[in-house]
Amino acid sequence: MQPPEPTLRLRVDREALTHNWRTLDRLSGLATAGAAIKADCYGLGVDACVPALRDAGCQSFFVAHWSEVEAVLAHVPPEQVAVLHGPVHGEDVVFAKAAGVRPVLNSLEQIRRWTGQSGGPCHLMIDTGINRLGIAPEELTDPAVAELDVDILMSHLANADEESATNALQLETFARCQSRVSHRRASLANSAGVALGRDYAFNLTRPGLALYGGVPRSELSGKIKQVAYLEAAIIQARTLKPGDAVGYNGQFIAQTEMRVGTVSLGYGDGFLRSRGLGGALRRGQARLPILGKVSMDMVVVDLSAAPHTKEGDWLDVPFDLSNAAQQSSLSQYELLTVLGSRWHRN
Ligand SMILES: *Cc1c(COP(=O)(O)O)cnc(C)c1O
Repeated sequence: MQPPEPTLRLRVDREALTHNWRTLDRLSGLATAGAAIKADCYGLGVDACVPALRDAGCQSFFVAHWSEVEAVLAHVPPEQVAVLHGPVHGEDVVFAKAAGVRPVLNSLEQIRRWTGQSGGPCHLMIDTGINRLGIAPEELTDPAVAELDVDILMSHLANADEESATNALQLETFARCQSRVSHRRASLANSAGVALGRDYAFNLTRPGLALYGGVPRSELSGKIKQVAYLEAAIIQARTLKPGDAVGYNGQFIAQTEMRVGTVSLGYGDGFLRSRGLGGALRRGQARLPILGKVSMDMVVVDLSAAPHTKEGDWLDVPFDLSNAAQQSSLSQYELLTVLGSRWHRN
């Protein structure tokens, strides 16, 4: 039996997503933009986002885990899918070959694991300073590297969202590596890297955050559109008397009689406690302050500014990522990826 309509809904604005990809593709100059789609498109949903990116013209998609591949293959051809974590186990190689997707090789061990099972087209990550994944530039002289059929030679910027001397250093190191291994495409920039300028774009850029409405650098503000729109329903309306305390630990105490609404939205839905402090939901133009602590499945809001709202009515959950990040001191990345599975995604 189909469950009834949920009390949380997440709308992905496909036009905004298309606009953001096209904008990042244009800002990439002669390079083309791919898309980081790991963590279920940063929480927004592969089924909602990948078809729009594909139809906009995107042909390179990056996931982190092997477990993320299957959902993506419903929408795009396997040779367009890259798995960033690489083949850590022999069975990852078997899976990559069976599915036809391309591993990103991150270490000499991964390279040997890949070539040991006859290899094929792959991507190669070089570590130029983030010290997370990738082989060291010195390791490029290893004979195992020369055997590879490298499609994308890539590296990842550590500080692209800041003014930092390491951006130019990473760029220089990566540029020097290019001549040491044959490859079809080179790729360095994430979303913030796209804003650093055309030098950083090489053949392919890999934006993630900015596709989904995040603004990691001021150069992108005004150019990127909000993609995710969230709504939560009131599941009970009540009237507080002076002295009534709301929620766990009674952190809000009513001073006067007031109408409040209990809303189906909590930290189980990625609305973390830090979003409650000083935060508000909206009903049209009316601002409805959050009262007391955010619970796992609920928050309580002051309905004074929208006195006619009732059980079942929908409230807007503000999700301009820059503003929400400022209000909550969470990163824009965290705000997206914590959303969870209870949202009804269109
Ligand atoms: C996540 C990721 C990206 C996308 O980064 P954003 O900052 O979200 O644009 C690009 N490349 C790699 C290797 C990544 O892990």
